[in-house]
Amino acid sequence: MFLVNFVVEIQKTMVKTPKNIAVIGATGSIGTQTLEIISSHPELYRATVIAAGRRVDDLIALARKHRPALAVIADVNKYSVLLDALEPLGIETAAGEQALCDAVCRDDVDMVVTATVGYSGLAPTIAAIKAGKDIALANKETLVVAGQYITELLAKSKSRVFPVDSEHSAIYQCLDGEDRANVKKLIITASGGPFRKWTAEQMANAKASDALKHPNWSMGAKITIDSATMMNKAFEIIEAKWLFGFDGDQIEAVVHPQSIVHSMVEFTDGAIKAQLGLPDMKLPIAYALGEGKRLPGAEKPLRISDYAALTFERPDIEKFPCLTLAQEAMRRGGNSACVINAANEIAVAAFLDGKIGFNDIYSTIIRTLDAMPYIETPGYADFVATNNEARMFATSII
Ligand code: NAD
Ligand code: MG
Repeated sequence: MFLVNFVVEIQKTMVKTPKNIAVIGATGSIGTQTLEIISSHPELYRATVIAAGRRVDDLIALARKHRPALAVIADVNKYSVLLDALEPLGIETAAGEQALCDAVCRDDVDMVVTATVGYSGLAPTIAAIKAGKDIALANKETLVVAGQYITELLAKSKSRVFPVDSEHSAIYQCLDGEDRANVKKLIITASGGPFRKWTAEQMANAKASDALKHPNWSMGAKITIDSATMMNKAFEIIEAKWLFGFDGDQIEAVVHPQSIVHSMVEFTDGAIKAQLGLPDMKLPIAYALGEGKRLPGAEKPLRISDYAALTFERPDIEKFPCLTLAQEAMRRGGNSACVINAANEIAVAAFLDGKIGFNDIYSTIIRTLDAMPYIETPGYADFVATNNEARMFATSII
């Protein structure tokens, strides 16, 4: 018996290969940082699939560098460019949403990093879960849109979810080794964004270029605007509810302008645990890829003595009403958060195009939320329909 175990152990060591990763949203902020970690650790990871939305030239450049087995572009109109560039290199190519869903289910994929932006993350994440693949979840919108549905799918699947969002990675690290019955509260930190010190009047006239100047984090355009409205924090409260299974009223946001404390957990004995680090996504990405194992040197060390003060304040919901949409969505339940997400995507795009003002983002969302039919227990087809209808309605009022 002993010998058999020993032989099995040796075989396990011998066949150990790098973990195969599919990076969807590979050309974005999270995607490129993920690929940097993967390429720095070829003994641990290999990018077998990379996928992007429309930026085919960036995808081709990444494919040349990282040599995946397959590169997928969601925009079918860009397919011939991708094929012409990658066929001579022996890299498989595909295009379209279904191709993206098929790609994450391949045998040469162990883990899927969901780094696409917005609603586009939902279908491939569902496909990956159904195929039993592990998920490193950056695309928080998936859990915002369909948290209950995804939770039920996960219960029937062998796939596990590892959070990439820095706040959720921090909470995951703080919960490690703890009895969840002792958890009183999850405290999610927020930088407060570029308008923390602006007056309401200034904010009404804010331009996209102002909102895109995030004080601490360098991220894609959509999440940067979500940070300026604090919609991002509302989404993160919903994301935390589904990831960690606590009630909405056990999760609160606190403004922490230095973005050093990435989030905290308060326990019933009064203790509060926090995870600290520089505002750098490399650590949470590496922690998710490693399934909660630490990767030495993942991010530059934080010199805590460089910070004379770490400060915390209550968020101003008068100035940032989008933050209240988390509790509103959780109170209403059903397809409400799907409506909020869709209206927000349309409103953010319109704000970036200069078509609406900063404060119109909130009013577009709330008007859409009140106009859309309520579905108590939405299935996948209901999410598709709700997303389409809410987008059309939000576009019509813009
Ligand atoms: P980004 O805009 O920089 O990149 C988005 C990526 O998604 C690009 O590769 C783009 O090609 C791809 N994409 C867009 N539409 C697509 C579609 N229809 N099908 C397939 N791919 C599509 O965004 P980001 O900042 O990297 O954010 C990605 C996700 O991670 C978001 O959900 C965001 O909320 C979350 N997140 C980001 C950060 C960060 O630091 N950037 C931190 C926490 C969470
Ligand atoms: Mg975050």
